[in-house]
Amino acid sequence: MPSLLNPSRPPVFCPGCSHERSLHALDKAFQELNLKPHEVVIVSDIGCSGLFDVFFGTHAFHGLHGRALTYAAGIKLAQPRAMVVVVMGDGGLGIGGAHVLASCRRNLDLTLLVLNNFNFGMTGGQYSCTTPQEARVASAFLNNLERPFDLCRTVAAAGAPFVVRRSVYSDDLSKKLSEALRYPGFAVVDIWGLCPGRYLKTNPLSPKDVDAMVEKAGFWNGMVTDNERPEYGSAYAKHLGDREATWNWTGIEAHLRANLRARHGTIFLGAAGERVLSAAHLWAMTAVRAGLHVTQKSDYNITVMRGPSIAEVLLSAAPIDYPGIEEPDVVVALAREGVERMPDMWARLTERTLVIQGEDVPVPDHAARKIVVDFKKMGISRKNRAMASLGLLARLSGIFSIEALVQAAEATLTLSQRDASVLLLRQGFEFRATFEESV
Ligand code: SF4
Repeated sequence: MPSLLNPSRPPVFCPGCSHERSLHALDKAFQELNLKPHEVVIVSDIGCSGLFDVFFGTHAFHGLHGRALTYAAGIKLAQPRAMVVVVMGDGGLGIGGAHVLASCRRNLDLTLLVLNNFNFGMTGGQYSCTTPQEARVASAFLNNLERPFDLCRTVAAAGAPFVVRRSVYSDDLSKKLSEALRYPGFAVVDIWGLCPGRYLKTNPLSPKDVDAMVEKAGFWNGMVTDNERPEYGSAYAKHLGDREATWNWTGIEAHLRANLRARHGTIFLGAAGERVLSAAHLWAMTAVRAGLHVTQKSDYNITVMRGPSIAEVLLSAAPIDYPGIEEPDVVVALAREGVERMPDMWARLTERTLVIQGEDVPVPDHAARKIVVDFKKMGISRKNRAMASLGLLARLSGIFSIEALVQAAEATLTLSQRDASVLLLRQGFEFRATFEESV
């Protein structure tokens, strides 16, 4: 089976970071199990390991500090056939410890990977719940006063039926990961590795040292026989099957009309400060209010004041199983930063795609149709481009009338944004005369 890694976002960690090894071991395990992208959901937590969800081309959910397991539980209960994998670091593990214990008691069919590198790497190398007492870290002496947490012993004591501990340099890591993925219950894999960006600066260790540390702490190899019991999701379904359902799902009432029979994917490529995500969200909310199925995927740098800002919005008349946009219907190119973030996409575009391109935004060669808009000439500032282009998108795609878009804006935007946004939407919708001049 082919790799499930995302070809548009090659992994980027500090040189020598062991997260990259874990990433490839997980990908190898997916391949061993013959899994396809739409069958897998990666739920990530905070920190550097939180980047895993963008590096795979699977379904993804990026969660809040220590809460990844809670989202994963909801996803698994709603989609029992999905392979749901949670990735967190030792930082998220400590913050969300209660959720880890609840997951052990519950035994829902999830796989938890803890990328354990003994510190909060992303935030500067502070001590975490697994930092050895003798280590030297950025939070001074605090770790000297607390005993580190033995994850495997703790989760086994709390009821986890499948527990593995390995060094990231271990030859059988991907084999152990595929066993964990296959296990029909809650599986925990504690992977010890190195953080050259922070921890190694004051604690020189080699891969051999990590192997030795794992050996000293003790290998865990899988089944914890005393904890074997029925998986929670199946038990829940069986229990519910004996009862009347107490809720009746009727869907969302449609308030607007949409002209869409199949799927329609738009990729917005902009920069921080251009309200790209707000415009994409409004596009998505208009579709929700029209009774369509919708997914929105957003991507932006942690440095919120600069860098790319990207949103992919998929609208569909039928339920959406896979939210990836392989061949976009429309690409809205608003800033160089966003365009450069997706270098591989352009060569794949065909005539089927329409590119709405800002006049001052360079894009690579492509075979798509193109409309060039001179925002400056129209008196539209950078921060208003995305909202204005939404009006144009509505008219060119024919999916929503301007009144539908305005109604959705009035229902969903805050008071302070509403009037100015509605003006921009109308201005964008009326682009016709102006853009014809500027093409
Ligand atoms: S800070 Fe540490 S964990 Fe984060 S990417 Fe760098 S080496 Fe990896």
